[in-house]
Amino acid sequence: MAEHFRDDSVAAVAVRIDAEHTSGLVFDPHQPQLRITDLGAVRGDGIFETMLAVNGTPRKLDAHLARLRRSAGILDIGIPPADSWEAAIGLGLEEYRARGGVPEELAIKLVATRGVEGEPASEDPAFAGTYWATLTPVAESMRTNRGTPLAVTLLDRGYDSTVAERAPWLVLGAKTLSYAVNMAALRHADAHGFDDVIFTTSDGQVLEGPTSTVLIARRGAEGEPPTLITPVLETGILPGTTQGAIFTAAERAGWKLGYGPLTPEDLYAADHLWLLSSVRLAAPVERLDEHRLAVDPELTAVLNSFLDQDLPVNHPLD
Ligand code: PLP
Repeated sequence: MAEHFRDDSVAAVAVRIDAEHTSGLVFDPHQPQLRITDLGAVRGDGIFETMLAVNGTPRKLDAHLARLRRSAGILDIGIPPADSWEAAIGLGLEEYRARGGVPEELAIKLVATRGVEGEPASEDPAFAGTYWATLTPVAESMRTNRGTPLAVTLLDRGYDSTVAERAPWLVLGAKTLSYAVNMAALRHADAHGFDDVIFTTSDGQVLEGPTSTVLIARRGAEGEPPTLITPVLETGILPGTTQGAIFTAAERAGWKLGYGPLTPEDLYAADHLWLLSSVRLAAPVERLDEHRLAVDPELTAVLNSFLDQDLPVNHPLD
């Protein structure tokens, strides 16, 4: 096979989970592993999570495992118990130690697919699909670009704010492998001179980014902390673990918190706007289409220090 691997992908470690290896088995991610009829590959019929591990400790592990289980429930895919995923991650970290050291930052991706149609991998529904974890060093470019202000465009997601309730078969709110639309939106943004996207509903509500949660801040009165506001989850957006962890820490620090609904006008009028995600962290937005927004590197640093605390995550729908 003609293959070209980037340096960070060469260093990746992969661990699969199956009924015979419920605590994981290290494999070579650069060799073919997946059956080509796997429904994850041919239909995007699967789910995933991506988390950051700093100095060998995965952040928000419980929240990521809980969201994986939630996604699995929405798609009706059986997945191994949390113990198996934790053991697999532990095995991956052990593999790095055996190779000479755990990179300071790793992106850990957990993937579960429905497996091959009609040929379950096990009689046990918890192991009937295909499951693996990859641990990949966070690219240096990602680390150095954190905090660089973004130009973002609003794009219509093509449905209204009530569709999640009306059409549960759209499996909104699950972190599925079907990210082709999200990636197409990012390419569209790039072609028009933007770094990222915020999706809106056809009836004018703010949803989320293709790989991030939206957060705005309204400044408090002199000496008062800011108020943080994020869109409501009822529109079918993903409950963000980064947003959730920031809210937990901000609440402990005495900040006021709110959940939308948010409109584009709310974003234009915000004092600050960020896109939040587990590996990129809090990314400040300085331009939203033709609107300029103020960036505050100190406030961004505070949000990222909240993430360092790695506090439990709660969402209003939990
Ligand atoms: N929304 C979408 C659609 C995402 O793909 C992601 C992360 O990839 C997020 C939000 C942010 O989630 P988290 O903060 O848990 O990484």
